[in-house]
Amino acid sequence: MSSLLVCRLCDSQCKLQDSHIIPRSYFKSMKGKSGQLMLVSIDESVDPALSNADPKEKLLCRDCEQHINTCYEMYGTRFFKQHQKVTKTKERVVFNQFRYKEFYLYLISILWRVSVSSLRRYKHIELGEGLNNYLKYCLKENTLNINSHFKIDDYFKISVIRVVDKKNQLDDTLIKSIFFDYNCEYADTIEEGLIYYFMVDGFVIVYHFNPEESIDSLKTKRKYAQIVNGKKLVVPVSDIRNFKQFADGISMIINKAINHGKL
Ligand SMILES: [Zn+2]
Repeated sequence: MSSLLVCRLCDSQCKLQDSHIIPRSYFKSMKGKSGQLMLVSIDESVDPALSNADPKEKLLCRDCEQHINTCYEMYGTRFFKQHQKVTKTKERVVFNQFRYKEFYLYLISILWRVSVSSLRRYKHIELGEGLNNYLKYCLKENTLNINSHFKIDDYFKISVIRVVDKKNQLDDTLIKSIFFDYNCEYADTIEEGLIYYFMVDGFVIVYHFNPEESIDSLKTKRKYAQIVNGKKLVVPVSDIRNFKQFADGISMIINKAINHGKL
């Protein structure tokens, strides 16, 4: 007999699905023909290993899986891969006919899953119950409004940046093929709060969260490359060296892979 558990989104007691913490398609496209994926840990002592497992956990009921899929993932998972409705220059990538709410909540749906996940690999990402509940409410109701005064996108500002190697030492296909899993650290200064970030398809996604910020500044201050409501999303292109974490990570991946005869 399968035991009943509580769905993390709708709180009903039912049989839960093996929910993907990170949308499955991110792993699927990276796995390519081999059906396996190279997992590399930032921890130097851990050897890279081929794996066909993306992180899964009994988290959501069937209806909520469906809800997240239809409302957010159908649009979100294909977003960075689309070629139509996209204009590219050396300085920016412009996504036309942008659907802000859908894309914003899509990115929030992943952060929320990572935060409520009890998997060891996401132990370091813990938003706390209060924040988790705000995110959960917005995802469940498909809204940005927490209440009549506050919007979730005032609290979590999300930036998207396309990273490339402007010196052409790294192949763009390599940059695009790497998935950097979620991480969390202080922003440039402690006063600026925390950032959560990951990288997929050559795009870095940064969530800014500052619990200390005044309501005034929450509502008016914009972050670099912040996604905002509009018909177009303009994503700046930046050199990977401007993002130390990723630049270091990529050179580490290359070195590890060479050392282990995988490249
Ligand atoms: Zn549910």
